[in-house]
Amino acid sequence: MYDTIIVGAGTAGLTAAIYLRRASKKVLVFEAKSYGGQIINASIIDNYPAEPHISGFDFATKLYNQAKELGSEIRFEKVVNIEDGDIKKVITEKDTYECKTIILATGSDNRKLGLEDEDKLIGKGISYCATCDGNFYKNKVVAVAGGGNSAIEDALYLSNLASKVYVIHRRDEFRAEDKLLNELKEKNNVEFILNSNVTKLNSNDLLESIELTDKDGNKKVINLDGLFIAVGRIPENENFASIVNLNENGYVIATEDCNTNVPGIFVAGDNRTKTVRQLVTAASDGAVAASEAIKYINKNKL
Ligand code: NAP
Repeated sequence: MYDTIIVGAGTAGLTAAIYLRRASKKVLVFEAKSYGGQIINASIIDNYPAEPHISGFDFATKLYNQAKELGSEIRFEKVVNIEDGDIKKVITEKDTYECKTIILATGSDNRKLGLEDEDKLIGKGISYCATCDGNFYKNKVVAVAGGGNSAIEDALYLSNLASKVYVIHRRDEFRAEDKLLNELKEKNNVEFILNSNVTKLNSNDLLESIELTDKDGNKKVINLDGLFIAVGRIPENENFASIVNLNENGYVIATEDCNTNVPGIFVAGDNRTKTVRQLVTAASDGAVAASEAIKYINKNKL
């Protein structure tokens, strides 16, 4: 029987594990993919206090090692269900585990454009991770779809590898910070295509070109080797929908102290309702959710 099972080994989940272990609680963390969550793909993090210029990989690895060294048990199993009760259950593809409290820290996954063949072409011209796949496009022509920080960071990264980078955004205003945008505008191999959506992927096994449609309905085709899609993320909560309340966008409805509608089940990080989804607020959530779990265990003498 675990004091707390944490679902997700990203920044929120691993921070929660650190706090729980420092309170001598028995902790198990489940991760379906690799540790670190979304931040592991960031080339450089410049907005985390006291850790300027650290790579996403180094940050995630330091955090993972810290949680492990403190005695957290971490298993790479996909959680498919949870059950509420005096003893709560976490069900993975392999087994069922019992615990007193649960922290949901599953974060979010890539939002897709929803185009025909988008899934089929992943790894054959379509990518959601510039830092993972950018090297395959050295001296080639690529496009980035999106207008947030991720898209502009991806375009910056790719501009140092590819011969040409198109940035395709559906509006003429960006969500990305001015600092990043201004840096990108200085690059002479980057072309912005605004007020346009990618509406078709043309391929012959590999992606060969994309069709764009502008806001007036005009279409044009761009020949390229790769399309990097960076149009935001969606929360990964579908397996918990029958237990905790989600909002209309699929986020777990949470209080600021990371409580859900179910006593003893907490939520931390990007998969909960909140206004600021940043690395530092994910870490903050981990600490808060762990403290709430400890309080719940002690108060109920579990
Ligand atoms: P985001 O800020 O939500 O931006 C998503 C972009 O994709 C928006 O420009 C949006 O267009 C566009 N988009 C959404 N759905 C689309 C669709 N179906 N078709 C075409 N375009 C679509 O997401 P993000 O860039 O992944 O960033 C997520 C969070 O992480 C943000 O808070 C961001 O600041 C943070 N982040 C920070 C850093 C950093 O500090 N270094 C790096 C990366 C991310 P509209 O603008 O028209 O809605």
